[in-house]
Amino acid sequence: RDAKTVALAGGGAVPYDRLILSPGIDFIEGSVAGWDLSSQNAMPHAYKAGSQTELLKAQIMAMPEGGTFAMVAPPNPYRCPPGPYERVSMVAHLLKNTNPTAKILIVDPKEKFSKQGLFEEGWANHYDGMIERVGPDFGGDNVTVDHNAMTVDIDGEVTKVDACNVIPAMKAGHIAEMAGITEGNWAPVNAADMSSKMDENIHVLGDACAQGDMPKSGFSANSQAKVCANAVRGALTGSTVFPPRFANTCWSLIDTDDGVKVGATYEATDEKIAKVDGFISATGETSEVRAATYRESVGWYDGITSDMFG
Ligand SMILES: Cc1cc2nc3c(=O)[nH]c(=O)nc-3n(C[C@H](O)[C@H](O)[C@H](O)COP(=O)(O)OP(=O)(O)OC[C@H]3O[C@@H](n4cnc5c(N)ncnc54)[C@H](O)[C@@H]3O)c2cc1C
Repeated sequence: RDAKTVALAGGGAVPYDRLILSPGIDFIEGSVAGWDLSSQNAMPHAYKAGSQTELLKAQIMAMPEGGTFAMVAPPNPYRCPPGPYERVSMVAHLLKNTNPTAKILIVDPKEKFSKQGLFEEGWANHYDGMIERVGPDFGGDNVTVDHNAMTVDIDGEVTKVDACNVIPAMKAGHIAEMAGITEGNWAPVNAADMSSKMDENIHVLGDACAQGDMPKSGFSANSQAKVCANAVRGALTGSTVFPPRFANTCWSLIDTDDGVKVGATYEATDEKIAKVDGFISATGETSEVRAATYRESVGWYDGITSDMFG
Protein backbone atom coordinates (compact mmCIF):
# COMPACT_ATOMS: atom_id res chain seq x y z
CA ARG A 1 0.00 0.00 0.00
CA ASP A 2 2.82 2.47 0.77
CA ALA A 3 4.47 1.84 -2.62
CA LYS A 4 1.05 1.58 -4.35
CA THR A 5 1.98 -1.59 -6.20
CA VAL A 6 0.43 -5.03 -6.64
CA ALA A 7 2.91 -7.91 -6.48
CA LEU A 8 2.27 -10.74 -8.94
CA ALA A 9 2.96 -14.43 -8.29
CA GLY A 10 5.26 -14.47 -11.34
CA GLY A 11 7.56 -11.94 -9.66
CA GLY A 12 6.43 -8.72 -11.36
CA ALA A 13 4.79 -5.70 -9.76
CA VAL A 14 2.06 -3.43 -11.15
CA PRO A 15 1.87 0.20 -9.98
CA TYR A 16 -1.54 1.78 -9.33
CA ASP A 17 -3.16 5.10 -8.63
CA ARG A 18 -6.38 3.43 -7.53
CA LEU A 19 -6.70 -0.28 -6.77
CA ILE A 20 -10.03 -2.11 -7.00
CA LEU A 21 -10.19 -5.37 -5.05
CA SER A 22 -12.98 -7.89 -5.47
CA PRO A 23 -11.40 -11.04 -4.03
CA GLY A 24 -14.59 -12.82 -2.97
CA ILE A 25 -14.65 -15.01 0.15
CA ASP A 26 -12.53 -17.31 2.24
CA PHE A 27 -13.65 -19.56 5.08
CA ILE A 28 -13.26 -18.99 8.81
CA GLU A 29 -11.14 -21.79 10.23
CA GLY A 30 -12.72 -23.79 13.02
CA SER A 31 -16.26 -22.52 12.35
CA VAL A 32 -17.58 -26.08 11.86
CA ALA A 33 -16.10 -28.49 14.43
CA GLY A 34 -14.28 -31.38 12.74
CA TRP A 35 -13.99 -29.59 9.37
CA ASP A 36 -11.05 -27.75 7.87
CA LEU A 37 -9.82 -27.30 4.31
CA SER A 38 -8.16 -30.74 4.43
CA SER A 39 -11.69 -32.23 4.75
CA GLN A 40 -12.95 -30.59 1.54
CA ASN A 41 -12.37 -33.61 -0.68
CA ALA A 42 -14.58 -35.78 1.54
CA MET A 43 -17.07 -33.09 2.61
CA PRO A 44 -16.97 -30.37 -0.07
CA HIS A 45 -18.02 -26.78 0.62
CA ALA A 46 -18.77 -26.29 -3.09
CA TYR A 47 -19.01 -22.57 -2.39
CA LYS A 48 -16.29 -21.62 -4.84
CA ALA A 49 -17.19 -23.01 -8.21
CA GLY A 50 -15.03 -25.54 -10.08
CA SER A 51 -13.68 -28.82 -8.77
CA GLN A 52 -15.63 -28.47 -5.51
CA THR A 53 -19.03 -28.19 -7.21
CA GLU A 54 -18.12 -31.05 -9.58
CA LEU A 55 -17.16 -33.20 -6.59
CA LEU A 56 -20.38 -32.47 -4.71
CA LYS A 57 -22.42 -33.35 -7.80
CA ALA A 58 -20.52 -36.66 -8.19
CA GLN A 59 -21.10 -37.52 -4.53
CA ILE A 60 -24.83 -36.83 -4.81
CA MET A 61 -25.06 -38.95 -7.98
CA ALA A 62 -23.24 -41.81 -6.16
CA MET A 63 -25.55 -41.85 -3.10
CA PRO A 64 -27.01 -45.29 -2.35
CA GLU A 65 -30.75 -45.81 -2.68
CA GLY A 66 -32.48 -44.23 0.31
CA GLY A 67 -29.23 -42.53 1.40
CA THR A 68 -28.84 -39.22 3.24
CA PHE A 69 -27.49 -35.93 1.90
CA ALA A 70 -26.55 -33.50 4.68
CA MET A 71 -25.83 -29.79 4.43
CA VAL A 72 -24.24 -27.73 7.19
CA ALA A 73 -25.54 -24.23 6.42
CA PRO A 74 -23.46 -21.12 7.22
CA PRO A 75 -24.15 -18.33 9.75
CA ASN A 76 -24.82 -14.76 8.52
CA PRO A 77 -23.40 -12.90 6.71
CA TYR A 78 -22.38 -15.11 3.81
CA ARG A 79 -22.25 -15.32 -0.01
CA CYS A 80 -25.71 -15.62 -1.60
CA PRO A 81 -28.23 -15.80 1.29
CA PRO A 82 -30.73 -18.05 -0.60
CA GLY A 83 -27.89 -20.14 -2.15
CA PRO A 84 -27.85 -23.07 0.30
CA TYR A 85 -31.63 -23.41 0.16
CA GLU A 86 -31.83 -23.19 -3.61
CA ARG A 87 -29.09 -25.83 -3.69
CA VAL A 88 -31.20 -28.05 -1.41
CA SER A 89 -34.13 -27.55 -3.81
CA MET A 90 -31.98 -28.59 -6.78
CA VAL A 91 -30.61 -31.65 -4.93
CA ALA A 92 -34.18 -32.63 -4.02
CA HIS A 93 -35.24 -32.13 -7.63
CA LEU A 94 -32.52 -34.54 -8.76
CA LEU A 95 -33.10 -37.11 -6.02
CA LYS A 96 -36.87 -37.12 -6.55
CA ASN A 97 -36.16 -38.54 -10.00
CA THR A 98 -33.08 -40.69 -9.37
CA ASN A 99 -33.37 -41.73 -5.72
CA PRO A 100 -36.85 -40.91 -4.40
CA THR A 101 -36.44 -42.54 -0.97
CA ALA A 102 -33.31 -40.46 -0.22
CA LYS A 103 -33.38 -37.88 2.58
CA ILE A 104 -31.95 -34.37 2.88
CA LEU A 105 -30.86 -33.06 6.28
CA ILE A 106 -30.06 -29.35 6.73
CA VAL A 107 -28.21 -28.42 9.89
CA ASP A 108 -28.59 -24.68 10.35
CA PRO A 109 -27.18 -22.32 12.99
CA LYS A 110 -29.63 -19.57 11.95
CA GLU A 111 -33.10 -18.98 13.37
CA LYS A 112 -34.40 -18.03 9.93
CA PHE A 113 -33.16 -17.76 6.37
CA SER A 114 -33.75 -15.91 3.11
CA LYS A 115 -37.14 -16.55 1.40
CA GLN A 116 -37.84 -19.17 4.09
CA GLY A 117 -41.63 -19.17 3.69
CA LEU A 118 -41.30 -19.57 -0.08
CA PHE A 119 -38.77 -22.39 0.14
CA GLU A 120 -40.72 -24.25 2.84
CA GLU A 121 -43.92 -23.96 0.85
CA GLY A 122 -42.13 -25.23 -2.27
CA TRP A 123 -40.49 -28.12 -0.43
CA ALA A 124 -43.87 -29.23 0.94
CA ASN A 125 -45.44 -28.96 -2.54
CA HIS A 126 -42.69 -30.70 -4.51
CA TYR A 127 -40.61 -32.79 -2.12
CA ASP A 128 -42.94 -33.68 0.75
CA GLY A 129 -41.13 -35.60 3.51
CA MET A 130 -37.72 -35.53 1.83
CA ILE A 131 -36.20 -32.43 3.51
CA GLU A 132 -35.66 -31.96 7.23
CA ARG A 133 -34.10 -28.80 8.66
CA VAL A 134 -32.65 -28.70 12.17
CA GLY A 135 -32.40 -25.10 13.38
CA PRO A 136 -30.64 -23.75 16.48
CA ASP A 137 -33.60 -24.64 18.73
CA PHE A 138 -32.77 -28.30 18.19
CA GLY A 139 -28.96 -28.12 18.11
CA GLY A 140 -28.35 -26.81 14.59
CA ASP A 141 -25.75 -24.47 16.08
CA ASN A 142 -23.89 -27.30 17.85
CA VAL A 143 -22.63 -29.54 15.07
CA THR A 144 -19.48 -31.65 14.67
CA VAL A 145 -18.65 -33.50 11.46
CA ASP A 146 -16.32 -36.45 10.94
CA HIS A 147 -15.24 -36.84 7.33
CA ASN A 148 -13.60 -40.24 7.93
CA ALA A 149 -16.68 -41.80 9.51
CA MET A 150 -19.01 -39.65 7.31
CA THR A 151 -21.08 -38.64 10.33
CA VAL A 152 -22.79 -35.47 11.48
CA ASP A 153 -23.18 -35.01 15.25
CA ILE A 154 -26.01 -32.63 16.12
CA ASP A 155 -26.04 -31.81 19.82
CA GLY A 156 -24.73 -35.31 20.64
CA GLU A 157 -26.98 -37.21 18.24
CA VAL A 158 -24.84 -38.86 15.54
CA THR A 159 -26.21 -39.44 12.03
CA LYS A 160 -24.41 -41.42 9.31
CA VAL A 161 -24.60 -39.60 5.98
CA ASP A 162 -23.70 -40.49 2.39
CA ALA A 163 -22.86 -37.03 1.06
CA CYS A 164 -22.16 -33.94 3.16
CA ASN A 165 -21.92 -30.34 2.00
CA VAL A 166 -20.24 -28.27 4.73
CA ILE A 167 -20.57 -24.54 4.07
CA PRO A 168 -18.43 -22.87 6.76
CA ALA A 169 -18.66 -19.30 8.09
CA MET A 170 -17.11 -16.80 5.68
CA LYS A 171 -14.81 -13.80 5.62
CA ALA A 172 -13.32 -11.49 2.97
CA GLY A 173 -10.86 -13.08 0.51
CA HIS A 174 -7.45 -13.37 2.17
CA ILE A 175 -5.76 -10.59 0.16
CA ALA A 176 -8.03 -8.01 1.84
CA GLU A 177 -6.78 -9.18 5.23
CA MET A 178 -3.16 -9.17 3.95
CA ALA A 179 -3.63 -5.59 2.77
CA GLY A 180 -4.78 -4.58 6.25
CA ILE A 181 -8.12 -3.21 5.05
CA THR A 182 -10.45 -5.53 7.00
CA GLU A 183 -12.18 -4.93 10.30
CA GLY A 184 -13.40 -8.20 11.76
CA ASN A 185 -14.22 -10.48 8.86
CA TRP A 186 -15.00 -7.93 6.11
CA ALA A 187 -13.61 -4.80 4.46
CA PRO A 188 -15.51 -1.65 5.49
CA VAL A 189 -16.15 0.82 2.64
CA ASN A 190 -17.57 4.28 2.02
CA ALA A 191 -20.84 3.61 0.23
CA ALA A 192 -20.58 6.65 -2.07
CA ASP A 193 -17.56 5.32 -3.99
CA MET A 194 -16.80 1.87 -2.50
CA SER A 195 -13.45 3.17 -1.21
CA SER A 196 -11.90 1.41 1.73
CA LYS A 197 -12.38 3.14 5.08
CA MET A 198 -8.71 2.35 5.74
CA ASP A 199 -7.17 3.52 2.43
CA GLU A 200 -8.71 6.06 0.04
CA ASN A 201 -6.74 4.66 -2.91
CA ILE A 202 -8.21 1.17 -2.56
CA HIS A 203 -11.80 0.31 -3.45
CA VAL A 204 -13.39 -2.97 -2.36
CA LEU A 205 -16.53 -4.44 -3.83
CA GLY A 206 -18.44 -7.69 -4.01
CA ASP A 207 -18.63 -10.29 -1.30
CA ALA A 208 -15.43 -9.10 0.43
CA CYS A 209 -16.78 -5.71 1.51
CA ALA A 210 -19.04 -4.88 4.41
CA GLN A 211 -21.97 -4.01 2.15
CA GLY A 212 -24.40 -2.50 4.62
CA ASP A 213 -27.93 -3.66 3.82
CA MET A 214 -27.04 -5.35 0.50
CA PRO A 215 -26.82 -9.14 0.33
CA LYS A 216 -23.60 -10.69 -0.97
CA SER A 217 -24.56 -11.59 -4.54
CA GLY A 218 -23.24 -11.36 -8.08
CA PHE A 219 -25.97 -8.84 -8.86
CA SER A 220 -24.85 -6.69 -5.91
CA ALA A 221 -21.17 -6.98 -6.89
CA ASN A 222 -22.00 -5.85 -10.44
CA SER A 223 -24.07 -2.93 -9.15
CA GLN A 224 -21.27 -1.87 -6.76
CA ALA A 225 -18.71 -2.20 -9.58
CA LYS A 226 -20.58 0.39 -11.64
CA VAL A 227 -20.69 2.87 -8.75
CA CYS A 228 -17.00 2.20 -8.09
CA ALA A 229 -15.92 2.55 -11.74
CA ASN A 230 -17.81 5.81 -12.03
CA ALA A 231 -16.14 7.19 -8.88
CA VAL A 232 -12.65 6.06 -9.92
CA ARG A 233 -13.06 7.56 -13.38
CA GLY A 234 -14.22 10.83 -11.78
CA ALA A 235 -11.28 10.85 -9.34
CA LEU A 236 -8.70 10.22 -12.06
CA THR A 237 -10.09 12.29 -14.94
CA GLY A 238 -12.34 14.86 -13.31
CA SER A 239 -15.38 13.56 -15.24
CA THR A 240 -18.90 13.82 -13.80
CA VAL A 241 -19.67 11.38 -11.00
CA PHE A 242 -23.33 10.38 -10.94
CA PRO A 243 -25.13 9.89 -7.62
CA PRO A 244 -24.69 6.25 -6.56
CA ARG A 245 -27.67 3.91 -6.94
CA PHE A 246 -27.54 0.24 -6.11
CA ALA A 247 -29.92 -2.63 -6.90
CA ASN A 248 -30.13 -6.36 -6.31
CA THR A 249 -32.49 -9.21 -7.08
CA CYS A 250 -31.88 -12.82 -6.00
CA TRP A 251 -33.93 -15.34 -7.96
CA SER A 252 -34.15 -18.96 -6.81
CA LEU A 253 -35.51 -22.00 -8.56
CA ILE A 254 -37.42 -24.46 -6.36
CA ASP A 255 -38.53 -26.92 -9.04
CA THR A 256 -39.00 -26.83 -12.82
CA ASP A 257 -40.57 -23.47 -13.73
CA ASP A 258 -41.10 -22.63 -10.04
CA GLY A 259 -39.03 -19.48 -9.62
CA VAL A 260 -39.16 -17.00 -6.72
CA LYS A 261 -37.35 -13.72 -6.11
CA VAL A 262 -36.41 -11.12 -3.53
CA GLY A 263 -34.89 -7.75 -4.31
CA ALA A 264 -34.35 -4.15 -3.32
CA THR A 265 -32.87 -0.81 -4.26
CA TYR A 266 -30.29 0.98 -2.11
CA GLU A 267 -28.62 4.36 -1.67
CA ALA A 268 -25.35 5.54 -0.19
CA THR A 269 -25.52 7.12 3.25
CA ASP A 270 -22.56 8.29 5.33
CA GLU A 271 -22.89 5.12 7.37
CA LYS A 272 -23.54 2.38 4.80
CA ILE A 273 -25.32 1.16 1.65
CA ALA A 274 -28.84 1.58 2.95
CA LYS A 275 -32.03 -0.10 1.71
CA VAL A 276 -34.60 2.19 0.06
CA ASP A 277 -37.37 -0.26 -0.82
CA GLY A 278 -37.80 -3.93 -1.62
CA PHE A 279 -40.03 -6.70 -2.93
CA ILE A 280 -40.44 -10.44 -2.53
CA SER A 281 -42.51 -13.16 -4.24
CA ALA A 282 -45.66 -14.16 -2.34
CA THR A 283 -46.55 -17.64 -1.14
CA GLY A 284 -49.45 -19.18 -3.04
CA GLU A 285 -48.62 -17.56 -6.39
CA THR A 286 -50.00 -19.19 -9.53
CA SER A 287 -47.83 -21.49 -11.64
CA GLU A 288 -47.96 -18.85 -14.42
CA VAL A 289 -46.42 -16.20 -12.14
CA ARG A 290 -43.74 -18.66 -10.95
CA ALA A 291 -42.89 -19.66 -14.54
CA ALA A 292 -42.65 -15.97 -15.50
CA THR A 293 -40.32 -15.36 -12.53
CA TYR A 294 -38.14 -18.23 -13.69
CA ARG A 295 -37.98 -16.82 -17.25
CA GLU A 296 -37.05 -13.44 -15.75
CA SER A 297 -34.07 -15.07 -14.00
CA VAL A 298 -32.86 -16.59 -17.27
CA GLY A 299 -33.16 -13.16 -18.91
CA TRP A 300 -31.21 -11.59 -16.04
CA TYR A 301 -28.48 -14.21 -16.38
CA ASP A 302 -28.16 -13.57 -20.12
CA GLY A 303 -28.07 -9.82 -19.46
CA ILE A 304 -25.50 -9.83 -16.67
CA THR A 305 -23.14 -12.23 -18.42
CA SER A 306 -23.19 -10.11 -21.56
CA ASP A 307 -22.83 -6.94 -19.41
CA MET A 308 -19.73 -8.45 -17.74
CA PHE A 309 -18.08 -10.42 -20.51
CA GLY A 310 -19.45 -8.83 -23.69
C1 LIG B 1 -24.40 -21.78 -4.96
C2 LIG B 1 -24.36 -20.32 -5.28
C3 LIG B 1 -25.37 -19.72 -5.99
C4 LIG B 1 -25.33 -18.38 -6.30
N1 LIG B 1 -26.36 -17.83 -7.03
C5 LIG B 1 -26.34 -16.52 -7.31
C6 LIG B 1 -27.37 -15.94 -8.10
O1 LIG B 1 -28.28 -16.63 -8.57
N2 LIG B 1 -27.34 -14.60 -8.34
C7 LIG B 1 -26.32 -13.81 -7.86
O2 LIG B 1 -26.34 -12.61 -8.11
N3 LIG B 1 -25.32 -14.33 -7.11
C8 LIG B 1 -25.29 -15.66 -6.83
N4 LIG B 1 -24.28 -16.21 -6.08
C9 LIG B 1 -23.28 -15.31 -5.47
C10 LIG B 1 -22.17 -14.87 -6.40
O3 LIG B 1 -21.52 -16.01 -6.97
C11 LIG B 1 -21.16 -14.04 -5.63
O4 LIG B 1 -21.81 -13.10 -4.81
C12 LIG B 1 -20.24 -13.29 -6.58
O5 LIG B 1 -19.48 -14.23 -7.33
C13 LIG B 1 -19.32 -12.34 -5.81
O6 LIG B 1 -18.41 -11.76 -6.69
P1 LIG B 1 -16.98 -11.35 -6.12
O7 LIG B 1 -16.29 -10.63 -7.23
O8 LIG B 1 -17.12 -10.69 -4.80
O9 LIG B 1 -16.24 -12.75 -5.82
P2 LIG B 1 -15.84 -13.96 -6.86
O10 LIG B 1 -16.84 -14.14 -7.93
O11 LIG B 1 -15.50 -15.12 -5.97
O12 LIG B 1 -14.52 -13.43 -7.54
C14 LIG B 1 -13.32 -13.23 -6.82
C15 LIG B 1 -12.18 -13.67 -7.71
O13 LIG B 1 -10.95 -13.16 -7.17
C16 LIG B 1 -9.98 -14.18 -7.26
N5 LIG B 1 -8.95 -13.89 -6.25
C17 LIG B 1 -9.07 -13.85 -4.90
N6 LIG B 1 -7.90 -13.55 -4.32
C18 LIG B 1 -7.01 -13.38 -5.32
C19 LIG B 1 -5.61 -13.05 -5.35
N7 LIG B 1 -4.91 -12.84 -4.23
N8 LIG B 1 -5.00 -12.97 -6.57
C20 LIG B 1 -5.70 -13.20 -7.70
N9 LIG B 1 -7.03 -13.50 -7.75
C21 LIG B 1 -7.66 -13.60 -6.56
C22 LIG B 1 -10.76 -15.45 -6.97
O14 LIG B 1 -10.06 -16.58 -7.44
C23 LIG B 1 -12.05 -15.19 -7.76
O15 LIG B 1 -11.93 -15.58 -9.10
C24 LIG B 1 -24.26 -17.58 -5.83
C25 LIG B 1 -23.21 -18.18 -5.11
C26 LIG B 1 -23.26 -19.53 -4.83
C27 LIG B 1 -22.12 -20.16 -4.07
